[in-house]
Amino acid sequence: MSPLEIQARLERILPTVQKPGRYTGGEYNQIVKPWDTTPAKVALVFPDVYDIGMSNLGMAILYEIINQRDDALAERCYSPWSDMEAALRSHAVPLYSLETKHPLADFDIIGFSLPYETLYTNTLNILDLAGIPLFSAERTKEHPLVIAGGHAVYNPEPMHAFIDAFVIGEGEEVIEEIIDVQQAWRISGTSREDLLHRLSHIMGVYVPALYTAHYEADGTFSHMEKIYSQAPLPVLKRIVAKLPPPPTHFIVPYIDTVHNRIPIEIMRGCTRGCRFCHAGMITRPVRERPVEEIVQAIKSSLQNTGFEEIGLLSLSSSDYTHILELVEAVSTNFHDAHLNISLPSLRIESFSIELMEKLRGSRHGGFTLAPEAATERMREIINKPISTQQLLDTTRAIYSRGWTTIKLYFMIGHPSETIEDVQAIADLCKQVLSEGRKVIGKKTQLHAGVSTFVPKPHTPFQWVPCDSLEQIQAKQALLKRELRQKNIKLTWTAPYDTLLEAWLSRGDRRMAEVVYRAWRSGALFDAWQEHFDYSAWIKAFQETGLDPAFYTHRSRLMDEAFPWEHISTGLRRKFLTEDYLWSLRGQTRVDCRERCFACGILPTFAELRSMNPGEVWQCPEVKPKSERRGAIVNPVDIPVVASD
Ligand code: SF4
Repeated sequence: MSPLEIQARLERILPTVQKPGRYTGGEYNQIVKPWDTTPAKVALVFPDVYDIGMSNLGMAILYEIINQRDDALAERCYSPWSDMEAALRSHAVPLYSLETKHPLADFDIIGFSLPYETLYTNTLNILDLAGIPLFSAERTKEHPLVIAGGHAVYNPEPMHAFIDAFVIGEGEEVIEEIIDVQQAWRISGTSREDLLHRLSHIMGVYVPALYTAHYEADGTFSHMEKIYSQAPLPVLKRIVAKLPPPPTHFIVPYIDTVHNRIPIEIMRGCTRGCRFCHAGMITRPVRERPVEEIVQAIKSSLQNTGFEEIGLLSLSSSDYTHILELVEAVSTNFHDAHLNISLPSLRIESFSIELMEKLRGSRHGGFTLAPEAATERMREIINKPISTQQLLDTTRAIYSRGWTTIKLYFMIGHPSETIEDVQAIADLCKQVLSEGRKVIGKKTQLHAGVSTFVPKPHTPFQWVPCDSLEQIQAKQALLKRELRQKNIKLTWTAPYDTLLEAWLSRGDRRMAEVVYRAWRSGALFDAWQEHFDYSAWIKAFQETGLDPAFYTHRSRLMDEAFPWEHISTGLRRKFLTEDYLWSLRGQTRVDCRERCFACGILPTFAELRSMNPGEVWQCPEVKPKSERRGAIVNPVDIPVVASD
């Protein structure tokens, strides 16, 4: 179907659906390049609704990078909500790009962003709405290349059957190389298999069709075998040595989206080593942006968009080396612009209050802290050590400096958690509320957000089982009972959502069949409470003969192979194993800027580190290659810490 025909049908469809602004494109700052004369055409797809996807920074980065090339264009697509999906199907309109209304099937490359696992069934639905075969093995030379990246694909196996190639790690450089390879292949006229072979030679690209998974007799994963001899094993993640300048030409939506703001990433990675934190493990090493570059990016973005809110993003804002300088520069430069500036992920200390106070205008949103656990024992196990006294002192200071609401984020289900640890969450919330009442009286508000721990791949907790449904429900019932009081608002993650996240994040290749069958049974928008259909997933497990508990409620032996270990984050298994054993002893590790724990990042990326000396990276410096023995960094170059 041509773009003109699609446009004509949309004119009939759009007045009948909710929020037609999700489907029109044409926003300020969208980029429309000449279709016929631009050789490489990439559709960037976020498989959730526009309102969510438009706030995704990864999509904005890739959109700007691809469209800066003369020979390439990038257009966007999001999941249609159910009313729009029904309309598209009944009018036989294929899913299309917002910019030019070309069907997705007309693009050379379709790139899915998969930051979390509950987008998997939507991904299948988008391929179906686009008329593209769901299974990679069924696609021919005439079909687009289907790729995916994002944090979820560090365990790509549950989606291996549907995606031709996964981008493991940071996409800024890889996407350009994929475009080059795809274009050269197209001109060559060789087979689709040849395209897959070529892609596997790009560092950070995993082509699942080039590997076979093997299992033990008891059903546990054994190993991954490559069936194309030149394919890498393991597949090492890709990182950029230095963060490139941030995007500044953000598209301005016509309709409300979850974050109507300019997102500026101030640093990538985290040195804290919280053992439950997937992002903290997979995004190492820490690389920071200079203060001037951030300030300049804010200036340009404000000029280019007119947004009035800025999000200074990172995993741990307080740990940005020049955070005070940055906050002062932002408040000086933009004082008169009356901006709302958010600085998420602050540490629990009085310095965080100083930072927030300097960002004038941001006080109304409440002050957020994430202790994650309520007892010192539990916080040592998860490596987020902070004393309860320090937490109480900080919260009292926050209330006394004018905030009336504090949001505390906790997790239940941590390894070795007892019901007393959960009771402590309720007790701590009441204590914090009482501290607030001492200084501001009845105005004091507390919001407790309690999620449930999922032992994620590539973390020191990858060996531990997830809580069962009954355990989660019992712990949540306790909190609901204990925290049913005025001025405390409790929110929690639905237990079934946690189970789904756990199955999908810990699954092996066999899980792809479950994803497919769940989608066939109607699973869609799994991240949305009103859509999530638990029964579709249970039915899918039953049809495939797989046991969901096998993936989530089983303790693993220390030497058990994991189905995601052919993907390398650069962290050594020995480091993760030791860190897990340390946690069992309640031993903590300090910030690795104070003391490098030889996690594996430096030997793996020694060359990139030596090319970027100084404080851009927060890992110790290494000598240039010419001064080292071979490509692997000399162990004496890294302060290795064996144990305490
Ligand atoms: S190499 Fe050392 S400093 Fe760098 S991330 Fe690993 S433990 Fe931290």
